[in-house]
Amino acid sequence: MTSRHPSAPADSNTPKLFIKTYGCQMNVYDSDRMSDALAPKGFEASTTPDAADLIILNTCHIREKAAEKVYSELGRLRALKEERLKAGRPLTIGVAGCVAQAEGEEMLSRAPVVDFVVGPQAYHRLPQLVERARDGERPVETDFPTEDKFEHLPQATKQVTLKRGPAAFLTVQEGCDKFCTFCVVPYTRGAETSRPMARLLDEARALVDAGVREITLLGQNVNAWHGEDAGGTASNLGKLLFALAEIDGVDRLRYTTSHPRDMHDELFAAHRDLDKVMPYLHLPVQAGSDRILKAMNRQHTADEYRALVDKLRDARPDIALSGDFIVGFPGETDEDFEATLQLVRDVGYAQAYSFKYSQRPGTPAATHDVQVEEDVKAERLARLQALLNDQARAFNATMVGRTMDVLLDRKGKRAGQLAGRSPYLQAVHLDAPDALQGHVVPVRIDAAHANSLSGSLLHGDTAAMPATAVPELPVA
Ligand code: SAM
Ligand code: SF4
Repeated sequence: MTSRHPSAPADSNTPKLFIKTYGCQMNVYDSDRMSDALAPKGFEASTTPDAADLIILNTCHIREKAAEKVYSELGRLRALKEERLKAGRPLTIGVAGCVAQAEGEEMLSRAPVVDFVVGPQAYHRLPQLVERARDGERPVETDFPTEDKFEHLPQATKQVTLKRGPAAFLTVQEGCDKFCTFCVVPYTRGAETSRPMARLLDEARALVDAGVREITLLGQNVNAWHGEDAGGTASNLGKLLFALAEIDGVDRLRYTTSHPRDMHDELFAAHRDLDKVMPYLHLPVQAGSDRILKAMNRQHTADEYRALVDKLRDARPDIALSGDFIVGFPGETDEDFEATLQLVRDVGYAQAYSFKYSQRPGTPAATHDVQVEEDVKAERLARLQALLNDQARAFNATMVGRTMDVLLDRKGKRAGQLAGRSPYLQAVHLDAPDALQGHVVPVRIDAAHANSLSGSLLHGDTAAMPATAVPELPVA
């Protein structure tokens, strides 16, 4: 990453945009769409804030620390903005994402450096907001507009898509109606909405046309997707996967994040029948105690979750699971926590994310009168993570000696090295010619490390590869 003095003139008159993304994959996708929305206004991506004329922080509000980070970053940006003003090259700063949605107007008084605030449902209005901010207004756009933002957001060009790599995200669903008692998402992202199937198939075809090989369908509650099919009837995610698998050139399909309550028969069938659906599922459970699951309003028991896992493994015996866990939810006792450890032992996770419960203003659990002490949360988190890490290490170790398809999606750290993802989403590093970047290739796994695998090309070099394994990348 290059950096230069903030007052240095821009390379040309082209305005530069820098977006800093916090939080989940949906924010990564949204940042790309914001960048696409501003491209017609002439904005070009910058890899550093120092070179930018417009900086947008795309924020996350899920845990307290995530929101605090945004305010610290805004503090740092104040100095840059002042320096810029002195140098006669003004800098516009916007805040997007869930902190923007939650704080709205308040953000303007708490952080005077901010020029505009935009919630996730209004990104299609970004060009006008930037213009108004540059004219000296400080607009705040946190309404849930009646128009569909996706219908108004421009599609990335082929060149831009190609540059973003062969693994792409595609948001199919937004918002959430589940109202888990710890979670801000239903308030910041609004009610659950699903995009129509035809639009998603068009977008997927455009991605593939630009060289994308793997598509991850995104949604806060992705398996609740119920967009209309061609006949105007509500469909489901399983059926959408079957339709996407028909597209030539889509090699891999994934979806995240799923809620256990929304697993359905067609989805199990998709895991059973479609090789393109990767044998990996992120299926958060949060806790293993029925008492806590009830208090969280998760709408299922621990045994119902175990039964889902069994059903998934019947459908796809090699499926690997990942999960989210919260420790120290209000009222969680040692016994409740032991039930979470037991569930982890019973299921066996390939990977997982675990968090200390964080009180979020406006959520029911935040006002619970029995909050768990910080040191108890920390101790439980350490024990849970030790168990989850052991399981992840054991899972990675089973890969050694196996041959698996890897989508080589980026350069490795060393010259001559590429990196990619296994079907189970593990990072894999290997020596390979640059020409293989963007392709799915068979790789023999030689070693497992703490968070990644290393391997060798099965066929040694491109020339020796079977033609089917090295498809031509379309020229953008
Ligand atoms: N929709 C997904 C589900 O139902 O599991 C989760 C989406 S949420 C954006 C991602 C994860 O953040 C959750 O699974 C949960 O583990 C964690 N999370 C959400 N609110 C939290 C809170 N108040 N404190 C700690 N972790 C939280
Ligand atoms: Fe939040 Fe997921 Fe629960 Fe919705 S289902 S409220 S996104 S944790």
